[in-house]
Amino acid sequence: MNQEPQNKMINRRGFGLKEAIKPLLNESYHSSLIERIKASDYVLEAGDLQICLAREFGFCYGVDRAVDLAYETRKQFPDRNIYLTSEIIHNPRVNTKLRELGIQFLDSGKTGQTPGSSLDAVTREDVVLIPAFGTPTPELELLKSKGCILVDTTCGSVVAVWRRVEQYGRDGFTSVIHGKFNHEETRATSSRATQYAGGAFLVVRDRAQAGRVCQFILGRLDQESFLAEFQSTASYGFDPRKHLERVGCANQTTMLASESFEIAEMIKAALKERYGEEELSKRFRHFDTICSATQDRQDAILNLARSGVNLVVIVGGYNSSNTGHLCEISSEFCPAYHVRDADEILSRDAIRHKPPSGSSTVVTRGWLPQGKVRIGITAGASTPNRVIEEVICKVVTSRGYKLADV
Ligand code: SF4
Repeated sequence: MNQEPQNKMINRRGFGLKEAIKPLLNESYHSSLIERIKASDYVLEAGDLQICLAREFGFCYGVDRAVDLAYETRKQFPDRNIYLTSEIIHNPRVNTKLRELGIQFLDSGKTGQTPGSSLDAVTREDVVLIPAFGTPTPELELLKSKGCILVDTTCGSVVAVWRRVEQYGRDGFTSVIHGKFNHEETRATSSRATQYAGGAFLVVRDRAQAGRVCQFILGRLDQESFLAEFQSTASYGFDPRKHLERVGCANQTTMLASESFEIAEMIKAALKERYGEEELSKRFRHFDTICSATQDRQDAILNLARSGVNLVVIVGGYNSSNTGHLCEISSEFCPAYHVRDADEILSRDAIRHKPPSGSSTVVTRGWLPQGKVRIGITAGASTPNRVIEEVICKVVTSRGYKLADV
């Protein structure tokens, strides 16, 4: 009789090697300068520069855990192939360090790829790390069937969103997810919405798209136009006449909190207008699924940007959703420069950065004004303190100061 390969284990807790990996993590990611600035009320004075750190920035609890688990896994299995289904988090420094440890990236879900094909190389002797964003259910099932060891670093806040959309599906509500369709987390979340028969999802990117969903609900947009825009970001066989009758709103954990809230309110108002107040509780649900780390970082940069800084530098990967939103928030109050790392500070005069809502980097000259300047600094939830330190050092030295003197 053929025996189904059994999944040996899914590890979510690590291997008890925290102390053993600490020196390596400290060497790669820790920053004594950042600790010093935090101890000085989050301010560093350097000549006519005042560097002000946001009160919440950098590594969140989910990223901390994912990185720890990856390092523990390498320590536990020094001789095995270790794979990651995609980037563990969206930070180039962290992903490069993991590659240096011999961890291989499968890059599943790349556009144009046959689903699951990137997992062909995995055997039952291998170890596969699931990133902090999670992974879609078909891929997870495939990995389980291979019988390899799975180390699941999915953040608890992402799993909490999955529980919501699964419940929507069970109760016959369509999940309208505010997120980026191709983002790993949103792919994983939307796959949970269709776990149960009749479950459906629709991913909306922003207010403008949510507005067109509302137009359809209100009978002001025809089905053909609706599907032309949304077919590729909705579940298979999505029928807007049927699937927009009962809606549960959710969001990718790292979206702009205010926009997610507004989108839910827009859809609620459209359903109320279409079906009447008395029907609303049967047709609309919403749970705020922005994670607390994202919210804290957005609140902190809002406070800092409003406090009268001359400019803000936001540090983080260019494909990091939460970092991009920190830039968007800051840019409403002052010039905001999203940089991947210190290499982007080209000189005292020039900075390469990704503008808010831009898709590629640009070089701006004259970014650092003469005279006294207050610079706000923040970083996305996937940015190590060491990278933030390097950016601060580059800013200070580009102005002609030595960090040892400050
Ligand atoms: S940003 Fe939020 S959801 Fe994402 S890993 Fe961090 S804590 Fe978890």
